[in-house]
Amino acid sequence: MCAACLRPQSTCICRWAAPVSAVAEVLILQHPMEVANAKNSARLLHLCLPGSRLESGECFDPARLDALLAGPRRSLLLYPDTPGDASMGTAPAPPFDPAWAGDPSALRLVVLDATWRKSRKMLYLNPALQRLPRLPLRSMPASHYLIRKAHAPDQLSTLEATAYALAQLEDDEKKFAPLITAFDGFVAQQQGQAHARRAALAADLGSPGDTQDQPWLGSPG
Ligand SMILES: [Zn+2]
Repeated sequence: MCAACLRPQSTCICRWAAPVSAVAEVLILQHPMEVANAKNSARLLHLCLPGSRLESGECFDPARLDALLAGPRRSLLLYPDTPGDASMGTAPAPPFDPAWAGDPSALRLVVLDATWRKSRKMLYLNPALQRLPRLPLRSMPASHYLIRKAHAPDQLSTLEATAYALAQLEDDEKKFAPLITAFDGFVAQQQGQAHARRAALAADLGSPGDTQDQPWLGSPG
């Protein structure tokens, strides 16, 4: 087990970590179902952002959550506007003041790492999150949008959405580009491992013995 990324050594993702010091503080609230999800990008995000916090939970203890959200920094929730909130029984988010974006050193970006459904539930279960103004994520940089046009904006990974939000806050796309590169490497690794597992399975099922237990494939001596 790797102590940094908490994965088995064989699937360690630490080599992708590209540390970038964001001016805004980042708090990642990870749904428990994401903790063991190999495709989850929040751990890599955490490794890329020294000083970020990664906390796991669905319904947080209110005192603990208040402590995590305490000042002097102003906490902003990275979450789209959801006009249907009243019907869900949650309070409408307070308005976002564009003037706040001018000073990222006074900000804490709060990111929910969950599926859309589970993020709705986290919002519903934690009134302190409902009280946070939301940072509207502007459209992605054009170059990445072309590469990732299969993604709707709300289907961005946690890492991508956070990288774009931090770039937006600091008005510095280049500074946070290494995070996207790290993510691309991470995705390629996940795909490679899935491919290797399928290939191994196919070899096993298709021609048992063909690739295994043949002495001339073993190391000499
Ligand atoms: Zn690792």
